[in-house]
Amino acid sequence: MTLRIDGRVLPVVGKARVYVCGITPYDTTHLGHAATFVWTDVAVRVLRHLGVPVEVCRNITDVDDPLIEEARRRGVDWRSLATQQTYRFEEDMRRLGVQRPTYEPKSHDHVDDVVTLAESLITVGAAYARNGSVFFRGAGVAERAGIDRVTALRTSAARGGRPDDPDKDDPLDMAVWQRSEPGEPSWESPWGAGRPGWHAECTAMALANLGTGIDLHGGGADLIFPHHAYEAALAEAVTGVAPFARSWMHVGTVLYRGEKIAKSTGNLVFVHDLLERFPAEAIRLLIVDRDWRDPWDYREDDLAEAAERLQRLRALASRDGGGAAERATVVAVDALYDDLDARRALAVAAEAGGSALKTVGGLLGVL
Ligand SMILES: [Zn+2]
Repeated sequence: MTLRIDGRVLPVVGKARVYVCGITPYDTTHLGHAATFVWTDVAVRVLRHLGVPVEVCRNITDVDDPLIEEARRRGVDWRSLATQQTYRFEEDMRRLGVQRPTYEPKSHDHVDDVVTLAESLITVGAAYARNGSVFFRGAGVAERAGIDRVTALRTSAARGGRPDDPDKDDPLDMAVWQRSEPGEPSWESPWGAGRPGWHAECTAMALANLGTGIDLHGGGADLIFPHHAYEAALAEAVTGVAPFARSWMHVGTVLYRGEKIAKSTGNLVFVHDLLERFPAEAIRLLIVDRDWRDPWDYREDDLAEAAERLQRLRALASRDGGGAAERATVVAVDALYDDLDARRALAVAAEAGGSALKTVGGLLGVL
């Protein structure tokens, strides 16, 4: 058997290498983060169930504009804010039953790798140094990602890409290394004091920890462009190995009251608040009760319903399902191999109960 993900069969010979874009540790974990990390955790559990050894790298982006701005706003050092929020994030993930990654690199530990990446990109003609920064030639990245230039420029501006930076040859060029402004974190480099660019940090952490041609890359759907498009373009340009990731898992955005859950909009549902009132398994059940690609609206009534359903599933799992449960296990697990069809797997397993439900519940982390 082989996992099929997002319309792609993913045979693995030897170990699978999975990279998951982690958090920028400047605020508490919200339900949107939880959905991304629970779904990628399910993918890893299913791969391991197939007998595939899996290495997971989930980074912490601890050198990034939102963190620096939040630290400045609070009047604290960005390092202590990052350490505190990373601790809280890890605690939320532990309570949600998200398995620990094999590697959890932090951007500040990979600054040298970003400098090497920037130097190498200049060497191969894919980047240029100007006024203390190094820019990747990104004019073609949006088109390759299937995004028109107008949308790309708008999205880039909204995600800190600074398309209006006069130092750039093309507005869609992207800083691999950027000159630090006074008061910002900075490191010495061949181009003067600066800091790594966001997308380049992930490229460097992925290459340094997992190498080229990773098997599965996960992250929230809002990272498709510019983050993942540039992360992959940088890696492919510097290594010559394409595609950077054999398959992608972009987990659907979680909305609350009709709007995206995000710090930037102040529209937030925090995981630790939900954990005060509901079992972690109910939160996971709510998250996986859908197609992983679909955006969805969080409603507290639905979570309360998931908690009730969890009780019923626990009772069904404790029954002796006999031979029917064994046969159902095969069908239900096959549904998970087929693009992580958790709804179908749960429906088949719940009908048989017993061992079928225990197996599927374990793979989804809900029982
Ligand atoms: Zn990333």
